[in-house]
Amino acid sequence: MIVNHAELVVSAVKPEQYPKGSLPEIALVGRSNVGKSSLINRMINRKRLAHTSSTPGKTQTLNFYLINRAFYFVDLPGYGYAKVSKQTKAQWGHMIEHYLRKREELTCALLLVDVRHKPTRDDVNMFDWLDYYTIPTVVVATKSDKLSKGKRLQQVKAIQRELGVRPEDIVAFSSATGEGKEPLWRAITSYVSN
Ligand code: GDP
Repeated sequence: MIVNHAELVVSAVKPEQYPKGSLPEIALVGRSNVGKSSLINRMINRKRLAHTSSTPGKTQTLNFYLINRAFYFVDLPGYGYAKVSKQTKAQWGHMIEHYLRKREELTCALLLVDVRHKPTRDDVNMFDWLDYYTIPTVVVATKSDKLSKGKRLQQVKAIQRELGVRPEDIVAFSSATGEGKEPLWRAITSYVSN
């Protein structure tokens, strides 16, 4: 995929602010700090379009990035950050759930998990939930540069087994090296063409 146009169209806090029109949307879900913003930047070859942060739990908006004027990446607020209040967590949950359940333009979700760790309980719940609502899901095992090649393969297999995902629906990815970029584009291409 050659990306020649990318822009942040809106950071939405409520459905009325979501973009109009019917372009397909690919949602990125995962716990805070798992690498969602970095993945978007790497996929579109931009250093800082999506704001990465070393302070997890900051993004509380749904960020709609228009790509090639053809589809959107939608960066959803990260879950599982311990330091936010229960009330804030509930608000985030509601916002994410509403988007995932109701948004007709949503064609695929990318569930990001850290390749170094067993999926958290939140990751497993999210995966099961996406499955229940029959939202096509590609699992992205992020930060793959942090493991040796052998260990990386082992971990990807373990995550695959743990979540019960098909081998073709999981991709090892590194925003640092670009590993996995082309396989990920291949995995999502069918979901972004009208
Ligand atoms: P988000 O909260 O899910 O959007 O996560 P970010 O993209 O902001 O990344 C959180 C932190 O992890 C930042 O310090 C990134 O530089 C780092 N990070 C993200 N992806 C990678 C990766 O593939 N490799 C390495 N080594 N670090 C990464």
